[in-house]
Amino acid sequence: MILTSIRKKIATALIVGFLAYVPAQVSAWGTIGHRVVGQIADTYLKAKTRKAVQDILGYETLAMCANWGDFIKSDSTYNYMYNWHFVNLPAGLNKDGVYNFLETDKSISLYTKIPDLIAVLKKPSSTRDEKKLAMRMLVHLAGDLCQPMHVARKEDLGGNRVSVLWFNEKSNIHRVWDEQLIEYQQLSYTEYAKAINHASAVELYNWQNTSLKDCIFESYNICNKIYETTKPDAKLSYRYNFDWVDTLNSQLLKGGVRLAKMLNDIYG
Ligand SMILES: [Zn+2]
Repeated sequence: MILTSIRKKIATALIVGFLAYVPAQVSAWGTIGHRVVGQIADTYLKAKTRKAVQDILGYETLAMCANWGDFIKSDSTYNYMYNWHFVNLPAGLNKDGVYNFLETDKSISLYTKIPDLIAVLKKPSSTRDEKKLAMRMLVHLAGDLCQPMHVARKEDLGGNRVSVLWFNEKSNIHRVWDEQLIEYQQLSYTEYAKAINHASAVELYNWQNTSLKDCIFESYNICNKIYETTKPDAKLSYRYNFDWVDTLNSQLLKGGVRLAKMLNDIYG
């Protein structure tokens, strides 16, 4: 009896120890960021669109399906989706440079996959499973599209290799933007979505009529500013939040508004 309990304790200690060494997943907006985008999008759906989305997702909401694209990274069956989440752009491009890069770069990326997924959802012959996968991934990638560090440099893995301290905790710029800046706001995803979901009619019009290339160019400009102002080993804390929180919130809001536009266009 005693031996069994000791064995159990050792096994628990080993499991806990092992988990501490599993490297942090390179992901995207953390769970909250992606859900905020889905939750906001839901508020802009036309009735016809909402019905079509429910037919595909069932009880799963746009918010709750938004992280599936990251969860599946634990299953190697889905390794083929790794490059869908980002598009790496070199430094120093102007608008034409970004356009040109996107037009000539034929690799699978955030830029090429979004239209692919929309096409799957539009195609009458797509199966139910194909549509479900496409819907979940489109919701996810619409979030990644507005995360500035998802259009960042290849050589540092989108900022994953740029080490910084976040409130004295070892981190990197990518992770700060994926999770830490969002978590710092101390809001649930529903509270967050409600708090920032205030766009003027002009903003809505402009954001809904931004091409995919321009969405990427917009994220790219922000990403460049992040690189300029966030040097390796920088100690980030209160001031960083103060400097960037408006940009962060605006990107999350745009992500939701644009996702709704994509879905309304598919089912409109
Ligand atoms: Zn992602």
